[in-house]
Amino acid sequence: MISSGLKKFGLGKGLKLGKGFCYGNLNGFIATLSDGSGYKSIYLSTYVSQEAASRITAEMDNLKKKYRLSAIEINSKCILITFVDTIGTMKRVEAFTEEALPLFKEWGVSGADICPHCQNQMDSTAVTKLMYGYAVKLHGGCAEEILNDMKETETEMTEMKSNAGLGILGSVLFGIIGTIPWAIVYALGYFVAWLGALIGFMVVKGYEVFGGKLKKSVIPIFAVITILCVVLGQFLGDAFQLGYYILNGKIYGELSDIPLLIKELWNNVPDYRTDVVVNLIIGIIFAGLGVFGVFRALISRVSSQSKKVTDLEDI
Ligand SMILES: [Zn+2]
Repeated sequence: MISSGLKKFGLGKGLKLGKGFCYGNLNGFIATLSDGSGYKSIYLSTYVSQEAASRITAEMDNLKKKYRLSAIEINSKCILITFVDTIGTMKRVEAFTEEALPLFKEWGVSGADICPHCQNQMDSTAVTKLMYGYAVKLHGGCAEEILNDMKETETEMTEMKSNAGLGILGSVLFGIIGTIPWAIVYALGYFVAWLGALIGFMVVKGYEVFGGKLKKSVIPIFAVITILCVVLGQFLGDAFQLGYYILNGKIYGELSDIPLLIKELWNNVPDYRTDVVVNLIIGIIFAGLGVFGVFRALISRVSSQSKKVTDLEDI
């Protein structure tokens, strides 16, 4: 996404407009400007030597304070500067561009003339590409190399054993652990719907922790395990509550009578049935949100990046 303020600034600096971002040569750096909820960012595609990185790190606190940055992330091939987006952000973006970017040059950050991949002088083979959502300028050969590496890694990942069996075991175990807070809170007489989301979260987490590889085909299995866990949580909660009454003498019987008591409640008390069904529906909805939340993040992590690489206009 790009807001009108940032777009205006970028175009004013002679940058080009991409889909939701501005890119081009910004004060000698190949830059991508973009923003999202609560932040604006400048991404510099550039070679950063160890020495240059240390210089920036040494000045990090000053820079962060002066321009209200939430972060400066550095690796050898890029610098990502993130501004906290409040009133006056554009002024800070402008000031950073005019003041800090020249300093980066002074501190030895390479800039647009050097290929960040091979660290050699840029030449006529240079291409501009969108990679991982940012504009980069590289030698044609270097871009090719990176793309091939990406594809290779992705192929390795798809050919990896799925470990689904072990993963599902993890899902079940973590799912059961996830039902305990639900059951306890419920037994105490409360009903907190978002604890259903915790069940969903745990089901996916367990799969991952036990080494299961995430594929879209696992979603129906997650759904089944999640539903079973919510059902378990509900009845476990009832069992805790009945157990409490039995131990306190409010209900006559033994702990071993609990399954029978639940069965009798279910068969003879319509209100109880309604409560259970409503709780289960709400629980499953929230658990579904939990599964979806975790799963979406994971899917985007394993999704193909190489397919998203596109050509940009030369800069
Ligand atoms: Zn190169």
